[in-house]
Amino acid sequence: MKRIDTILEMKKEIKKVKEQGKSIGFVPTMGFLHQGHESLIKKAKGTCDCVVVSIFVNPTQFGPGEDYEDYPRDLDRDLNICEKDGVDFVFAPSVKEMYPKGYNTFVNVEEITDILCGEKRPGHFRGVATVVTKFFNIIKPDFAFFGEKDYQQLIVIKQMVKDLNMDVNIVGCPIIREKDGLAKSSRNKYLNKEEREAATILYKALQKGKQLIGLKAYSISEIKERLEKYISSEPKAKIDYIEILNADTLEIPKSLDEKLIIALAVKIGKTRLIDNCIIGG
Ligand code: AMP
Repeated sequence: MKRIDTILEMKKEIKKVKEQGKSIGFVPTMGFLHQGHESLIKKAKGTCDCVVVSIFVNPTQFGPGEDYEDYPRDLDRDLNICEKDGVDFVFAPSVKEMYPKGYNTFVNVEEITDILCGEKRPGHFRGVATVVTKFFNIIKPDFAFFGEKDYQQLIVIKQMVKDLNMDVNIVGCPIIREKDGLAKSSRNKYLNKEEREAATILYKALQKGKQLIGLKAYSISEIKERLEKYISSEPKAKIDYIEILNADTLEIPKSLDEKLIIALAVKIGKTRLIDNCIIGG
């Protein structure tokens, strides 16, 4: 495994890999790797000849007052995990390397970024779409792997790839969870013991939502209301949003028979967690 810090060196290595006729799988991450990230790496290994993992805490996708400074970082640990998982290249550029002085170009995916995390975190997806575009231009992957944990991100990237005619296949990968259902996340590190326990409310609410949808006895707004009440019964939880939408378009569904997503963002103490589940389709 090779660790690379500069865009020039990464491009040189990619050129060599391409000349050998090998396919490239790319897994973008912000590091502090866990089994969720590793599931993407495994999928990439199974699909492609050469696997590139990026580790970059991208400042342009954090808003003012968010956790950019505090975001957990441990590059040595991440490198060990990547090595163990058979990654070929870890691309870990500095902020200056990615956004040098005078940097001035951003990618904006419209409409589907006006809701959910896009609405609550203005500018977030502009930062995501920009950094992913830069990575795609540097790494030129045949396949790129994204977790369904960040479901709106997956939809935004698919839209961007389609609209900008990018030659990369986007692969969505299922959510990896802890034993008690909490979705694995680098941000779970922020939770103290009590908050960690309280955080199970997200998964429990999703299960409850799934059950209520299955009953076909309530309207979507009734189900949302019930879930709001349920989550609010946990004193440490503060709802940022809870939505039930069409899972393909992220539009308001006309019927409960469509492929649906229940998407949640909930603050547990100061930690904002997101989770979702897909139903039907
Ligand atoms: P992050 O480092 O949080 O930016 O995540 C990098 C990639 O890993 C994104 O595509 C995430 O959706 C994915 N990911 C994060 N957590 C999980 C999880 N629990 N299960 C599956 N994929 C995940």
